[in-house]
Amino acid sequence: MKRIGVLTSGGDSPGMNAAIRAVVRKAIYHNLEVYGIFQGYAGLINGNIQKLELGSVGDIIHRGGTMLYTARCEEFKTKEGQAKGIEQLKRFGIEGLVVIGGDGSYRGAKALTEHGFPCVGVPGTIDNDIPGTDLTIGFDTAINTVIDAIDRIRDTATSHDRTFIIEVMGRDAGDIALWTGLAGGAETILIPEENYDMKEIVDRLKRGQERGKKHSIIIVAEGVCSGVDFAKQLKETANLDTRVSVLGHIQRGGSPTAADRVLASRLGARAVELLLDGKGGRSVGIESNELVDYDIIEILSKPHKVNLDMYRLSKELSI
Ligand code: ADP
Repeated sequence: MKRIGVLTSGGDSPGMNAAIRAVVRKAIYHNLEVYGIFQGYAGLINGNIQKLELGSVGDIIHRGGTMLYTARCEEFKTKEGQAKGIEQLKRFGIEGLVVIGGDGSYRGAKALTEHGFPCVGVPGTIDNDIPGTDLTIGFDTAINTVIDAIDRIRDTATSHDRTFIIEVMGRDAGDIALWTGLAGGAETILIPEENYDMKEIVDRLKRGQERGKKHSIIIVAEGVCSGVDFAKQLKETANLDTRVSVLGHIQRGGSPTAADRVLASRLGARAVELLLDGKGGRSVGIESNELVDYDIIEILSKPHKVNLDMYRLSKELSI
């Protein structure tokens, strides 16, 4: 292999730049040429492709977002779109591709693999919902952003003796809600993986009020319902007044934490190693701090598992 490509696709996440940097530097270290594909699969189809040098990825390790930009591209979901993409890869002499992104982006990488093109997936999403890895790039930064917000909301909640509902991202996964709820000392955490019992939630809030608790924090994962809807349910079932904060896209931005930069550097470099070893069609990940890789076609059929021990612990700690 002489020339590889790298793209970021779907929702961006902090640390994607560190991953791009690792791919480029590791490849050049091993005398490979690297081409950056701009704007995800849309840029692949349109041939928005440029050679990257060592300096192209200078001064980006600490920046959120992605220097390659990202896009959503419906055309790439079709066989014709994929054929156009492969045509461009051939035109530029690219023999292997690193795809950094979430599960949608992985489906694109899977399609390329099924067409026989060597592709390696690097899990980049704040949602932490890719199977075959304990952590995805951007998750640590996102939860630290949420924790910062929870701490601030807690201050005002205490001053006003209020119950706050904080809606966090995560799509169909509850990881952001669970980790931030546990780290932020939330009274209640709602995740899509577990049903909730309204009576139990109301009883806990009332018990807290009776023993003079000044505030309550409820974290709702967007995959359960909106924070506003949950506030309505609380009002209707228990006549409880709450305030709602929807954190939204601030969770996707910002300078990546040290943990995300290290993770991105390790995973990006391993993706290049796999391509050098002629191992396309893989997804890289980290398990118990060891780098691992799995078949990218099989990985998508595995369910993502949220840590239910942590969920039970959060309930025990918020009695
Ligand atoms: P994320 O990667 O963050 O999950 P999306 O789900 O929006 O984001 O997916 C990003 C892009 O990946 C899509 O716009 C599309 O170009 C590509 N993609 C998603 N699903 C498929 C699929 N089944 N086949 C081919 N490409 C896909």
